Amino acid sequence: MTENLLNFDAQQLAEWFAERGEKPFRAKQVLRWIHKMGEPDFAAMTDIAASLRSKLQQAASVVSPEVQREELSSDGTRKWLLNVGTGNAVETVYIPEDGRGTLCVSTQAGCALDCAFCSTGKQGFNRNLSVAEIVGQLWWANREIGKDINGNWPITNVVFMGMGEPLLNYANTVTALRLMLDDNAYGLSRRKVTVSTSGIVPAMDRLREDCPVALAVSLHASNDALRDKLVPVNQKYPLRDLLAACQRYLDKAPRDFITFEYIMLEGVNDSEKHARELISLVRDVPCKFNLIPFNPIPQAPFKRSRHDAVRRFQDVLMQAGIVTTIRKTRGDDIAGACGQLAGQVLDKTKRTKSQAGADL
Ligand code: SAH
Ligand code: SF4
Repeated sequence: MTENLLNFDAQQLAEWFAERGEKPFRAKQVLRWIHKMGEPDFAAMTDIAASLRSKLQQAASVVSPEVQREELSSDGTRKWLLNVGTGNAVETVYIPEDGRGTLCVSTQAGCALDCAFCSTGKQGFNRNLSVAEIVGQLWWANREIGKDINGNWPITNVVFMGMGEPLLNYANTVTALRLMLDDNAYGLSRRKVTVSTSGIVPAMDRLREDCPVALAVSLHASNDALRDKLVPVNQKYPLRDLLAACQRYLDKAPRDFITFEYIMLEGVNDSEKHARELISLVRDVPCKFNLIPFNPIPQAPFKRSRHDAVRRFQDVLMQAGIVTTIRKTRGDDIAGACGQLAGQVLDKTKRTKSQAGADL
């Protein structure tokens, strides 16, 4: 078995080289070739001694997950379904916008947290993705789309909003984050890399110490009773604890606000009363809200809130001084919400298995 070097951040790669009697600067050169240049072939790493190149060819590889299916939306959004083995697939979505390109990455095959409205949750938990599988999404998508005329990679922003709960695959998520931020790899700004969490409180505290990046928290409800139902992990980490963790996170965060994601479900969480309840709930947390139009899934009874209800909700929050945006629905024609495309494919093949996974 060769070692997949996409699994290593700078320090780990230097250690791997040291174990083989190679100098640290060689590791740095190889890191740059792999991530900055997007080069998987050691033979092409021309400033590296031929002897080392052939050693690497024997012992190592650069392998990202295999693409199983590609979908291109009429609005330019591209979605790839990646095969991560044993019948599992995860998604990566590229969203081009003026002056930036955002990649939405997955961190787990499935998810154990089973939020009531989420396609990924309905697939159950299968396994954590490796670092190579997480960072490989960025490595591969950059290469696939190609550099722009100025020689820059197209992806300027990464959001961990694909399948899975990043903070329940903590170690691999943090290693992937380090690579994304490393100037010898992708050199992305901390402000442009966003981890989205359903609210794993102890891991939020660890992330603040280990690798603070922008944070989005999937709130979705204005009180514990409702959130217990929509986001069951709330029973373990209720709103009080979650909001306190958000405040602590801001001490070290690269941005001075938390983004709260709030999925709009008709007749469930979208009334003016809910908006007012939210305002007092988040009183002590500098934040912005992103209202997310629900993408219907077959396994859940919810409906997307009417547009006028979403606008009214936004108005109430804005009047209280909370910056509130409504997420543009991108890639609707290709099952836009993360988890939905894999859900369609997997539903046909794995229902029994995913039911079992849901109990993990
Ligand atoms: N597990 C993390 C990150 C992945 S989910 C989290 O929950 O934050 C990323 C976002 O997709 C979440 O905010 C979630 O609410 C949203 N989402 C899940 N299912 C959706 C659906 N059916 N329609 C629209 N957004 C959805
Ligand atoms: Fe998991 Fe996030 Fe989906 Fe909840 S919304 S089931 S935490 S992926």
